[in-house]
Amino acid sequence: MDFIDVVKENVMDSFQRVGVNIEIDVWTSIELLPMNCFDWSRRQYFSPCIINWLYSRLAINLPEYFIVGIGYIDAYDTGLNFVFGEAFPRLRTCVVYTKRLNPSFYGEKTDYNLYVERISKEIVHELGHLLGLGHCNNPRCVMSFSNSIYDVDAKSRFYCSNCAYSIKRKLV
Ligand code: ZN
Ligand code: ZN
Repeated sequence: MDFIDVVKENVMDSFQRVGVNIEIDVWTSIELLPMNCFDWSRRQYFSPCIINWLYSRLAINLPEYFIVGIGYIDAYDTGLNFVFGEAFPRLRTCVVYTKRLNPSFYGEKTDYNLYVERISKEIVHELGHLLGLGHCNNPRCVMSFSNSIYDVDAKSRFYCSNCAYSIKRKLV
């Protein structure tokens, strides 16, 4: 199975756990990123620029759709050294940046399962933001804020009961 299919099943499973069935359409086209979003001094992409660009690139604005981008790049936002992902609820768009989710970024050996699990968690997290959720104090909850890759690994792929309740109220 392709990596994106595993990610898709994981994300759907996290929502099924809450009692919500979501549909995911995968577009596997690879987009050439706009260089005006690249900060040459930091050698990172500026995340808000990427999200705005993805939104304008796809130009979808259907109330029942969210746009989720996955990019093998490193990105930051103002005041943060880096971000694993970011969501703009107003645009119904989020992006997950996978470079720092890859074990090889930390000099560790390739671990496909770990990499896919981390990407899945961050997508479920950003979708939570798109659904209006904030960060959660429960370190096992997928909505807990991750400062480092250790935080990502410490949390589960699932919403805690409080966050699950909020998701359900939005979607059911
Ligand atoms: Zn967050
Ligand atoms: Zn929670």
